[in-house]
Amino acid sequence: MSNSSVENVVIIGTGCAGLTAAIYTARANLNPLVLEGPLPGGQLTTTSEVENFPGFPHGIDGFQLMQNLREQATRFGTRFEQALITSVDFTTMPRKLVAADRTVLAKSVIIATGASPRMTGVPGEKELYGGKGVTTCATCDGAFYRKMDVAVIGGGDSAAEEALFLTRFASKVYLVHRRDSLRASKIMADRAMSHEKIKCVWDSVPVAIEGVDQGAVSGLRIRSTKTAAESVLPVKGVFVAIGHVPNTKPFAPPLDVDENGYFKPLNGSQIQTKVPGVYVAGDCADHVYRQAITAAGMGCAAAIEAERWLAEHGT
Ligand code: NAP
Repeated sequence: MSNSSVENVVIIGTGCAGLTAAIYTARANLNPLVLEGPLPGGQLTTTSEVENFPGFPHGIDGFQLMQNLREQATRFGTRFEQALITSVDFTTMPRKLVAADRTVLAKSVIIATGASPRMTGVPGEKELYGGKGVTTCATCDGAFYRKMDVAVIGGGDSAAEEALFLTRFASKVYLVHRRDSLRASKIMADRAMSHEKIKCVWDSVPVAIEGVDQGAVSGLRIRSTKTAAESVLPVKGVFVAIGHVPNTKPFAPPLDVDENGYFKPLNGSQIQTKVPGVYVAGDCADHVYRQAITAAGMGCAAAIEAERWLAEHGT
């Protein structure tokens, strides 16, 4: 695409929100351009079975679901290009979306950039991430830890869910939390704490993830927040489940975000921003529901709003 052509609508992100917005704007003959970031298909591609997306009574593989959405969007003329947007200029019309190698111009924009797993940042985490024992997805990687001991870091619903899922494979699951009780919902917390394979390690923070020649995890070094004593849990896998960080940085400012970095839409709207013709959808703007189907719903709503806005202002 040349720098000078102006798109009707540019959708940033290829998760459930972005692809649903693409299907709707493509069917409205708006010839949408979708910009793909570093994880095409978004978080669902790292999930195995999706059992709660309506319309699939027997569940569907997360990767397959995203392939289906993409195929559906392509069928109506959606175009896809790789571009990682690093900053924007919304003061002018058309809106400017700046990537490393070019600037994309658009009359309307739907930002559906999702959220990324939050990491602890301790030594060893980065080095041992991805195939070496550090992961953020039990459903993706749990089966690799059959009959091994693993640790899950975190105290929320994600951590409890990951720990429970891992009991299917692992011999023992340490659930390492920096407090003395879980933040997870009561039902999940009770399930996790009463499971015979799960051992809660309270008041403990990770200090380092240790590895054999940095090739495979050999242990999780933790420190007690009460006594400052350090110890090493002899685990082969470390599952980081300490929440998510919304991918909103390139857009804020000018767009508003809350204290956790999630887009703050205009009052009374889930998807409208203070910039006319610019919308947000999915996990980058939703820290409450964070479901594939709610992201798809927001993508649909953003597409309809963009379509209306273009009909009024977009000539
Ligand atoms: P969360 O509720 O924000 O919990 C994050 C956990 O990680 C907290 O326990 C937090 O500790 C801990 N943590 C944060 N930063 C840390 C750090 N640097 N080092 C060590 N620990 C750290 O995130 P979540 O569990 O991903 O859940 C997010 C939302 O999705 C919630 O609303 C949740 O209910 C929902 N969810 C629901 C389900 C379900 O219903 N099946 C499943 C997953 C998620 P503190 O407690 O000290 O803050």
